[in-house]
Amino acid sequence: MEQIHCIGCGVEIQTEDPKGLGYTPKSSLEKENILCKRCFRLKHYNEIQDVSIHDDDFLRMVSSIRDKKGLVVHIIDIFDVNGTMIKSLPRIVGNNPIILVGNKMDLLPKSTNQNKLIQWLRSSAKELGLKVKDVFLISSVKGYGMDELTDQIEEYRNQQDVYIVGTTNVGKSTFINRLIKQSVGESDVITTSYFPGTTLGFIEIPLDDDSALIDTPGIVNHEQIAHYVSDQDLKVITPSKEIKPRVYQLNSEQTLFFGGLARLDFIKGDRQSFVCYFSNNLPIHRTKLEKADELYESHLGELLSPPDEESMKLLPPLTTSSYRLNGEKTDIVFPGLGWVTVSGACTIVTHSPKEVAVSLRKSLI
Ligand code: GDP
Repeated sequence: MEQIHCIGCGVEIQTEDPKGLGYTPKSSLEKENILCKRCFRLKHYNEIQDVSIHDDDFLRMVSSIRDKKGLVVHIIDIFDVNGTMIKSLPRIVGNNPIILVGNKMDLLPKSTNQNKLIQWLRSSAKELGLKVKDVFLISSVKGYGMDELTDQIEEYRNQQDVYIVGTTNVGKSTFINRLIKQSVGESDVITTSYFPGTTLGFIEIPLDDDSALIDTPGIVNHEQIAHYVSDQDLKVITPSKEIKPRVYQLNSEQTLFFGGLARLDFIKGDRQSFVCYFSNNLPIHRTKLEKADELYESHLGELLSPPDEESMKLLPPLTTSSYRLNGEKTDIVFPGLGWVTVSGACTIVTHSPKEVAVSLRKSLI
């Protein structure tokens, strides 16, 4: 039988195993444009189906880029740089040039200093051994920065193929749908959804007679907090519009809880403000440091939520890191959740889920 691919996610169609990837009932094979059951449900019922595919399979599929020639466009979520930057990218893409694209700009406060953000992305990439040719900031939902990026891709690609790579949930499908809409005027050619792990096959979109834009499967990165929360909680922690800073004036020995997913202890320092940039829907709770442990033990999932019941089964335990800040305006970044800006000298302790390491950067605001 000739191989047929889903026009939604690109995965190979099969008609034998209803629970397996790429399943379509035999009767649908008559149709011209075939969708796998999963994409069909997503498209028509707006409902995501769980399929599991082993990380190694993702990697093996994507690693085939190494043997090809083309421009690699690496999309990351600026809200979760650590969780969405692919550390193994140099190994995956070989010698092909990489450009880095920070998506979801529309969620950042307008006062964000974009140059600082670009610098931070550059240095984060460098720390991971990623050599990037250029860095761009976009919002694939709002279209911000897209024209410049498409012009630059055209320049950099040198008439070769363009590979779009990213971990799950960074907005890769949204990005490509937008490109398709711009060029063909057709929407919803591939599937997009709220949840990680949605885009599973390679999809080729012709750019001209000899080259194509290729969507690759999303790699699952275990440092992405999205993998440790329920679908419901993911909706709560993912900002849906521009985040509004919430300011807390704290004395030393006070604690802030971000739901029950992360925590910041102000250990030592003068009274000062902690400016919190998180999804507007994520509750922040202030308490005394001496009461914090007990509060966490007795009210996780209630007063301190998310996590909901399902996330509590998924979440790794919190681990702590201690930092002494010298008074330079600094962002304490909780990848995938948000960050807290402090301007005074202080000692703090952060608590975050084990795989999701907190980091510091020069303030972006
Ligand atoms: P993929 O898994 O990388 O293909 O990601 P999707 O395109 O399915 O997007 C994942 C989620 O992020 C969806 O809920 C999108 O609506 C959302 N998203 C994608 N791009 C943007 C963006 O530029 N801004 C905002 N606010 N959300 C975005």
